[in-house]
Amino acid sequence: MPYYTCRNGACPTGGQPFSLTGAGQTYCPRCNTPNSLTAAPVAAPTTQTRVIATSNAMHAAGGAADEVEALIAKWDLNTVSDDEARKTKDYLYTLGSNSKRIDREGPVNNGNRVVTHGKFRLQFGSKTYAGVWVKVNEILDAAVIRRAFRESMAAKRYVEVYLG
Ligand SMILES: [Zn+2]
Repeated sequence: MPYYTCRNGACPTGGQPFSLTGAGQTYCPRCNTPNSLTAAPVAAPTTQTRVIATSNAMHAAGGAADEVEALIAKWDLNTVSDDEARKTKDYLYTLGSNSKRIDREGPVNNGNRVVTHGKFRLQFGSKTYAGVWVKVNEILDAAVIRRAFRESMAAKRYVEVYLG
């Protein structure tokens, strides 16, 4: 299914790609502006990752890497709402004991106190081996979020996951 964007600056799609419901359609299904669709279809947004270079350095997983990997493999969420992101939740996933865990920490906010990401941290005891910031209210790919945890373990920084 090809994707389009709307050229109407006031369109509620906000320039985000969308698919059409009817073949040969030339008006935007959200703002109904005629001939507002871009001529060339654009690719659908996909789940992206990005190392947050400014985040705090983490511990090296070292000999724990296999167990960290086993804990990451349990992750099966593909979305986090802004309401969920606001609430901390310990032991979202654990490996063997509560000491080896992924916790949902406090939210990431922008400068205007709007919640932008849920923050998840993988810890063994007091050592942090990986963590991700998951953009709120987006349907993401759980496998890419798992990959983001692995990228974080390698980079020893938080990794952002978002649609782009
Ligand atoms: Zn539109």
